[in-house]
Amino acid sequence: MTDLTKLSAAALADKLSAGEVSSVEATQAHLDRIAAVDADVHAFLHVSEHALDVAADIDRRRAAGDDLGPLAGVPLAIKDVLVTTDMPSTSGSKILEGYMSPYDATVVARSRAAGLVPLGKTNMDEFAMGSSTEHSAYGPTRNPWDLSRIPGGSGGGSAAAVAAFEAPLALGSDTGGSIRQPAHVTGTVGIKPTYGGVSRYGAIALASSLDQVGPVTRTVLDAGLLHDVIGGHDPHDSTSLAHDWPSFAAAAREGATGEVLKGLKVGVIRELPDSGFQAGVSESFRAALAAMESQGAEIVEISAPHFEYGVAAYYLILPAEASSNLAKFDSVRFGLRVDVPGGTVEDVMAKTRDAGFGEEVKRRIILGTYALSAGYYDAYYGSAQKVRTLIQQDFADAFSKVDVIATPSAPTTAFKLGEKIDDPLQMYLNDVTTIPANLAGVPGISIPSGLASEDGLPVGIQFLAPAHEDARLYRVGAALESLLVDSWGGPLLDRAPALGANGGAR
Ligand code: GLN
Repeated sequence: MTDLTKLSAAALADKLSAGEVSSVEATQAHLDRIAAVDADVHAFLHVSEHALDVAADIDRRRAAGDDLGPLAGVPLAIKDVLVTTDMPSTSGSKILEGYMSPYDATVVARSRAAGLVPLGKTNMDEFAMGSSTEHSAYGPTRNPWDLSRIPGGSGGGSAAAVAAFEAPLALGSDTGGSIRQPAHVTGTVGIKPTYGGVSRYGAIALASSLDQVGPVTRTVLDAGLLHDVIGGHDPHDSTSLAHDWPSFAAAAREGATGEVLKGLKVGVIRELPDSGFQAGVSESFRAALAAMESQGAEIVEISAPHFEYGVAAYYLILPAEASSNLAKFDSVRFGLRVDVPGGTVEDVMAKTRDAGFGEEVKRRIILGTYALSAGYYDAYYGSAQKVRTLIQQDFADAFSKVDVIATPSAPTTAFKLGEKIDDPLQMYLNDVTTIPANLAGVPGISIPSGLASEDGLPVGIQFLAPAHEDARLYRVGAALESLLVDSWGGPLLDRAPALGANGGAR
């Protein structure tokens, strides 16, 4: 591994703009890294054939004196849920194998316009359903900390790519935790923006009232830089907010001074049972809170009595919306078609959907169709929506007393591949602390809080803020990050053993 793959996006961007390194060199270094480790990690479903050409173009424009954005020339990995014109977009499903989109997702278009260099498309659980990438139709991604373990999901590919130094930046999507939980288990940073803060145009829909696109990075500042590129109003997305967002990179820089911690009120949820959490996860969480307290933050116990019903409500709302969103994969409009000689249109649709969808997708389509059916709608979907409102009220009450809420980002560290795949309920419980933010539409960030004492694997701390207050998360996240990285004597990822000493190839 060269130093170029080791740099944060911000540091790499500085070298690029100073002319110390070219985008072609930076891109080549990452392509070499992918070639060296991705057979083991399997973060990528597709590596771009165009990356070096794009990089060369940025170098030319820089040489010509063009006014390039702050991240111009920096490589970017893109979750396969986001459609791209120059690479296939499958959302981790066989039903979309080889599918080429006629347009770019808005976040992809904005990244290209900002001069970022798309490196490839990252692996994910099929249609973003899962917490381990084991539901990908193309085989799982492995955790760079321990290749026998999961990298989280659904965006395990984006998190692993960043953790394995295959890309400095990645895009993810978070419907119930798919940016934050992979960040937790890989020692990376992930942000789920306020609902509507980042365009979902061209993000293959899972559950439209929950989906958000966001950054996956190694530092809080890098996330802010990428968020500044992809965020803001998009007329193509009717749920996109017309809001005047501040610079999130500026918020991260300001936060790094630590001033924000003085007098900051950090809410801790009384009802979150300690029992569901691995001891090392709880320890790391408490240690992070103590570090904040030592810098003047105040830890305040708050009540969010409906938080724990989030998972139950989510697994009615999500399948209901997913069953509707996935109806368009009907063998006529997109992707796979399995011919049935002499069969009816219905036969072709049924055979295609049977062959093209995996087990988890089928499970959720059946669940969702059932929950929405006449006679059950009120009992299931209607009740779940009421719980959603109660969770929103819990958040509103809490944020009248505290500035941010803190939780562990997930209950356990990375588990072994195969450990939970046959037990959907256990898999669903991974998102107990991340799901409420999606139900309420509020922003959340996960940053590394340390390594769990019992297994030496990364743990993340999550902060939640009121809607529109994403900048607060960047300030608080950067403040804690700089405290912790100082106390560790360097970034956590330098210690990922599966990648060898100092993150080098094994
Ligand atoms: N793990 C959750 C699920 O399976 C979250 C997925 C997501 O955020 N896309 O639905």
